[in-house]
Amino acid sequence: MDKIHLLSLSISQLNEMIQLIGEPAYRSKQIWQAVYCQKSSAIQEMTALSSSLRVKLEETCTLSVLQPSAEARSTDKQTVKQLFITPDGNKLETVWMKYNERDTLCISTQSGCAMGCTFCATGQMGFSRNLTAGEIVEQVLFFERKLNIIERKVTNIVFMGMGEPFHNYEEVMKAIQILGDETGYNLGSRRMTISTVGLIPQIKRFSAERSQVNLAISLHAIDDPTRSKMMPVNRKYPIDDLLAACKEYVDNTHRRISFEWALIEGVNDDIATAKKLAIRLKGILCHVNLIQLNPTRYFAVRGSNKTRALEFMHTLQEAGIPVSIRLRRGIDINAGCGQLASSQ
Ligand code: SAH
Ligand code: SF4
Repeated sequence: MDKIHLLSLSISQLNEMIQLIGEPAYRSKQIWQAVYCQKSSAIQEMTALSSSLRVKLEETCTLSVLQPSAEARSTDKQTVKQLFITPDGNKLETVWMKYNERDTLCISTQSGCAMGCTFCATGQMGFSRNLTAGEIVEQVLFFERKLNIIERKVTNIVFMGMGEPFHNYEEVMKAIQILGDETGYNLGSRRMTISTVGLIPQIKRFSAERSQVNLAISLHAIDDPTRSKMMPVNRKYPIDDLLAACKEYVDNTHRRISFEWALIEGVNDDIATAKKLAIRLKGILCHVNLIQLNPTRYFAVRGSNKTRALEFMHTLQEAGIPVSIRLRRGIDINAGCGQLASSQ
């Protein structure tokens, strides 16, 4: 029988398990703190537990299921990409981006992705499977432990690695709950960002939960024919419906929503498009994140140049839309968002 992955358990599931193996309830709190406060990397390290309990736990549970594989560091050493292999042989990647005061992790929610966006390396790979909450949490603890050694810590998490987080809703929400637990890892919801391709039913569900986790929508085009060509999901959830769901989210939560826009030369980077975008976003509490498209193997077109990107940004600014250009990170190691794993 497979061992139980401890990082997959919510605190109440851990309580139940502890009772099932005949241990007193306070033990579950000790285990939770060993994992998420002391960040033990092995059951044997949990010295607050009796040695007999550690042996018992080792027989039934494990703290890690991901096998770290290749690691790549960008030449400026500010970005590290880590490939992992799951027990059933699937690949996923996590990227650590170091800024002055921040350490942001870009984590995967699926191995591959079923959404098939043409410009995205993960989309080009196809879908393997959903990751479990434990596999999502493990990516974070893996880097947290590494960072602690150099006296840093994970400050932000973006669900922008491989996969569509809202296509794996339950496990992603469970991972968020585990990582946000105040008696454990305690990462504030506002330090986490979910990025979605635009799955409307899940946006509504998320909106109803009134979560404090930030929401980003990958928009990339403002007319249906262009968006459907780049992002097949747009045929099912077209722009009008998507923007209506975004408005509803802002009304429900009073939280600012982000729109991601990968600038592609000659496709979505002209001034007329920027003006049209500004008109459609007017009145929505939002922020636009522009990024120059990262080149991928199977998508022939190029990212816009810097001048074009700045012109696009200024057009939005003049129309009163908050906007910034996101730095491209780790281009030399294919660690740009949406570029993960397919080159390995
Ligand atoms: N599936 C989710 C989250 C993962 S992709 C989503 O699509 O939002 C994270 C971000 O990277 C998305 O905004 C996506 O559109 C963007 N992206 C994908 N491929 C890219 C590329 N080649 N260059 C720049 N951004 C890309
Ligand atoms: Fe999937 Fe996001 Fe890539 Fe689209 S951009 S294929 S939704 S990972």
